[in-house]
Amino acid sequence: MSKRRHLGEFRWEGVALQPYKEPPEMSRRATRQVLFDGEYGSAAQLRYFEIEAGGHTTLERHEHPHAVIVLRGRGHVLVDGTIEPVAPLDLVSVPPMTWHQLRAAEDATLGFLCMVDMERDRPQRPDEDELRDLRADPVIARFLDGH
Ligand code: MN
Repeated sequence: MSKRRHLGEFRWEGVALQPYKEPPEMSRRATRQVLFDGEYGSAAQLRYFEIEAGGHTTLERHEHPHAVIVLRGRGHVLVDGTIEPVAPLDLVSVPPMTWHQLRAAEDATLGFLCMVDMERDRPQRPDEDELRDLRADPVIARFLDGH
């Protein structure tokens, strides 16, 4: 079936609710739904993620880019070395090998679409030196500490 009905509350017909990342204990406060999974030979995958209030995605970088469109809630994004507030219908492009993280506001679930390549490299986490470099910017340090 090519049309999937929206069931309310950002759930779609026939789309499983999965943990944000495996193992699930890494992502107690976030979920993933794969909305489009390379159908018809496409190279693209489209996911919908939700991060509970106060939660966040993994701080990571990788060669594959992201296109992100916020659908619900509020929060902030780290990308390109800056922190920006995000709200519904904001569009965020994440360039290759750029540290990025999305954080939900303390009082609002953050939901967003994220497009990626079907075939993609594994995300890298910052090592100690890279984390220290990132935290050298006090604005980024405060963001990473959740303030
Ligand atoms: Mn990523």
